[in-house]
Amino acid sequence: MQRDPRYDILFEPVRIGPVTAKNRFYQVPHCNGMGHAMPQAHAAMREVKAEGGWAVVSTEECEIHPSGDVSPYVEARLWDDHDIPALALMCEKVHAHGALAAVELTHNGPTASNMYSREVAIAPSHQPLKYGYPHQARAMTLQDIRDYRRWHRAAALRAKRAGFDIIYVYAAHDLSLAMHFLQVRRNQRTDDYGGSLENRVRLLRELIEDTKDAVGDKCAVALRFATEEFQGPDGVQEQEAREIVHLLADLPDLWDVNIAAWYMDSQTSRFAREGFQEPFTHWVKQITRKPVVGVGRFTSPDTMVSQIRRGALDLIGAARPSIADPFLPKKIEQGRADDVRECIGCNICVSGDMTVTPIRCTQNPTMGEEWRKGWHPDRIAARRSDKRILVVGGGPAGLEAARALGQRGYEVHLAEAGRELGGRVNLEARLPGLAEWGRVRDWRVSQINKMANVAVYRDNLLTAEDVLGFDAQSVVIATGCYWRRDGYGRSNGAPIRGLDRPNVFTPDDLMRAPLSVDSLLPHGPVLLFDDDSFYLGSVLAELVRAAGREVIYVTPEDAVAPWTVNTQEFRHIQRRLRELEVNIITAHNLLSFDGEGAALGCVYSDREQHVSCASVLTITARLPQDELYQALQLRQEQWRDAGIESITAIGDCLAPALIAHAVYAGQRYAQEFDTEPEGEVRFRRHLPRAQN
Ligand code: ADP
Ligand code: SF4
Repeated sequence: MQRDPRYDILFEPVRIGPVTAKNRFYQVPHCNGMGHAMPQAHAAMREVKAEGGWAVVSTEECEIHPSGDVSPYVEARLWDDHDIPALALMCEKVHAHGALAAVELTHNGPTASNMYSREVAIAPSHQPLKYGYPHQARAMTLQDIRDYRRWHRAAALRAKRAGFDIIYVYAAHDLSLAMHFLQVRRNQRTDDYGGSLENRVRLLRELIEDTKDAVGDKCAVALRFATEEFQGPDGVQEQEAREIVHLLADLPDLWDVNIAAWYMDSQTSRFAREGFQEPFTHWVKQITRKPVVGVGRFTSPDTMVSQIRRGALDLIGAARPSIADPFLPKKIEQGRADDVRECIGCNICVSGDMTVTPIRCTQNPTMGEEWRKGWHPDRIAARRSDKRILVVGGGPAGLEAARALGQRGYEVHLAEAGRELGGRVNLEARLPGLAEWGRVRDWRVSQINKMANVAVYRDNLLTAEDVLGFDAQSVVIATGCYWRRDGYGRSNGAPIRGLDRPNVFTPDDLMRAPLSVDSLLPHGPVLLFDDDSFYLGSVLAELVRAAGREVIYVTPEDAVAPWTVNTQEFRHIQRRLRELEVNIITAHNLLSFDGEGAALGCVYSDREQHVSCASVLTITARLPQDELYQALQLRQEQWRDAGIESITAIGDCLAPALIAHAVYAGQRYAQEFDTEPEGEVRFRRHLPRAQN
């Protein structure tokens, strides 16, 4: 297919100092949980992006010295020459596809932990460590500043030897000394490096100059810079940021701009839409003559073109869109823009990607599995037999299984009880702020619609009889799950008294309400008992508030939705619920409900309180919707006559989990179909060496 000429501008080369990006697609640095601990896996993941057409592929943060050790998070590392081969491998893989490799050098100062190195942390001034470790960083002396510059320079030289084309100086996310020196709240120095803005910028200027001097002949020097910190005058804010850009204007070869801290930069679709950073970064290009790259969860080529034409950016930066679809540039280039698997902005990729767990993605189940399982985001092994496969259930697990089996070339039949495909995604994408989640369904349905070998049957609630009579050799049961009504969950090992009343609701009741939530709920306050602790409780609180009901939010945890710390949504959720005037009661369990009020028990003491409410909404635990699977298990002796070789439950029907797990389960089924498992460990591992 031909590329749409409207998108030609996206494929223009861009000169960045001494190097040239072949197009405007730029994978900005992002963490991935593999880093220095899993170099082959890391290199393979970056390679897939280069293969997918990104002109620049960056590392994550790259530590330059043991005194800036960010363990337990696993990032890249260039402490000494031993670290060069791991990153040289990445450069080699990225270069093999004509892309440039970039490295984000950093020293995290008071935002490091030094738990591995046990060095004393350093900072512009004496201060506590940011991430709650109960010790402090010491103020850097002038000698420390000289040492720090020396480490940065040495790391830049190592990066050049590893093969990098672009070397970063990092002053963003409140995560590096170069930024900490800019911040009044972290820098109370009275010498040449503190006080006036010019003094606070001095170190950043010196680092850029040092890096250019060390490697600028061959490598471009990029500055990653946060233009707004949302901390008022205590932090970097627009007025000062403009002055900083004026002071450094053409010194770096590239400006990579975003907003801080990370929870503001990596906002979910629930809290920010595509292009949300533009108001904070668009002005940088008016000050510098050097190219500017910025982010904003860009997935639409039209939005990207508009950013460039309007002079907001020169290069389209992407972390998450490159994770959801590493082949995004290539698809647009080949006229397959409709095939792009768009990021849904859920931040599951963020949720563990700094610790030693390979990055995972809701939309792209192959992410993190490139090396250890050999999975690829755009290719899959061809079928090995003529087997007919029946997939029951068209939620994310069933859709992905059917799609990926179809991609392999099998004859697939997908039966769905409802009118629409999508399963839980249909329900959840209708909740406040979650509309983009519908992309999980939309991409899969659009791909399946193009496959002649995948037949879809809607409005088909299958029974065991139907399955046995279908003439399929393999059956996948992906029939989902439902929310418990009895209150059993993390905090209650037995049913909660009084929940067998009509004015007690589960998320299913609200999400499947035939009319409106307003007509479902009795008038009066709703006591929402959240024992799930992730996103759904706060989303349903919004839904109930929108229906005009008062919400009393009760959680046994110490805060609302604590797991959302992992998706960078925690602060946004706290703020949203307060804006909605939700009455929040933390550290309390739901003991009983008498129809007009609930007894709550403090989780730390024996104290009880009574709260009046007109209804209760429980979000506790789920159970597999596995009647069909169980019925088929009971009839196992009939499988042979029915021609059935295997019946497998996947996704929520096996164990209720996230949408990401369901998609992964569907992909895994398709990948492993017709293969013989080898051993108990089903993936390649990075094995520890016994000797140094
Ligand atoms: P998962 O997240 O594991 O994909 P979902 O709950 O999203 O699970 O999707 C399960 C889908 O299975 C729903 O769309 C539901 O309508 C469908 N389903 C459940 N039971 C049957 C059945 N017996 N026959 C066909 N479809 C079914
Ligand atoms: Fe996007 Fe979610 Fe995938 Fe992250 S996990 S890249 S936010 S779809």
